[in-house]
Amino acid sequence: MRQYISDTILAQGTCDEHDPTGAVIPPIHLATTFLRPPEGYSDTGWSYSRYGYPGLEQPEATLKALEGAADCRLFSSGMSAMTAVMMALKPGAHCVFPIDMYHGMRTWLKRYSAHWNIRIDHVDMTDLDKVRAAVVPGVTAILWAETPSNPHWYIYDIAALAEIAHAADARLVVDNTVPTPLLTQPLSLGADIVVHSATKYLNGHSDVLAGVAMTATVDEFWERICFTRDYQGGILGQFPAALLMRGMRTLHLRIQRASESAMAIATACLDHPKVEAVFYPGLPSHPGHALAVRQMTGGFGGMVSIVVKGGLEEAERVMTRTRIWKPATSLGGVESLIERRAAVEGAASHVEPGLLRLSVGVEAVSDLIDDLKTALG
Ligand code: PLP
Repeated sequence: MRQYISDTILAQGTCDEHDPTGAVIPPIHLATTFLRPPEGYSDTGWSYSRYGYPGLEQPEATLKALEGAADCRLFSSGMSAMTAVMMALKPGAHCVFPIDMYHGMRTWLKRYSAHWNIRIDHVDMTDLDKVRAAVVPGVTAILWAETPSNPHWYIYDIAALAEIAHAADARLVVDNTVPTPLLTQPLSLGADIVVHSATKYLNGHSDVLAGVAMTATVDEFWERICFTRDYQGGILGQFPAALLMRGMRTLHLRIQRASESAMAIATACLDHPKVEAVFYPGLPSHPGHALAVRQMTGGFGGMVSIVVKGGLEEAERVMTRTRIWKPATSLGGVESLIERRAAVEGAASHVEPGLLRLSVGVEAVSDLIDDLKTALG
């Protein structure tokens, strides 16, 4: 396929084959099984839907083109994709993760590593010396980054991390959920594997649970990830795949709007008397700003966190007073969400009790700012 600019890839959805009916949108094939010749497998490539079906071609080709990946697999959730990567490791492997990261993965790692003889270290990934010190050449198998990271939106240096990983014979895996391939392209910076919760921006409408894994190289490690999807049944279903494809076709419009609004909201919170701290990589005051300017393309994303003066009680009070911002977890939808992150993460959370995580949607930014300011008091 000719390489188009990402906006065109998304709007067209890589739809360059015409359906015999003339439909501009591919049909949803619900078949779980496909006709086979006596020798076993047909040359259409479809045999049984746990291994793949026609409706995955379009979203997987679109994502592959956006990330510049050699291969792509859609999963039933972000966690399903991320854990498939971990299950490709051999027992005894060592992995280095950030401290600031998606808490669900951290929870899974804690239990999984204890049972499967995988050693996990969490380090401050903004400090490359600490990363170097944690990596054990020949033993460390994975360095895992999520940038901007949950919920302080720290920026981790993908190119530098790739260098550290490769020098130790390890792989760099990047969770690219928050910036999407439109704002950060980890594979072009040296990462080996990219994962996403497609539940967030890629779908963008809070109505699909989905995940993606992509690779720079088709090798034995990638084959093990694909095997886990195929034989554990982690594949995305037909209806969610069609919804995901529909959502992705406006990703470029949504992410641009969310980034612009997030910048305005973060700026409006900066000098607010009830706000103690604002975390947004687009702000020059954010510790990762200079790196974000270098590493991110076309915006700093739609996620902002603020720490409310007065801690937990004041933050809870703000959450009960917003009208437009809906109190719910998750991110990347067209509707704006607010959550007190420590409450979502539970007792082991490292997050400030008064930190409110804001997922900026596509409502009028003046309404969002007014609503937040009214709630702050
Ligand atoms: N990665 C990030 C950054 C997330 O925020 C989430 C979910 O919130 C996940 C991965 C997991 O994705 P899912 O909920 O689709 O399993």
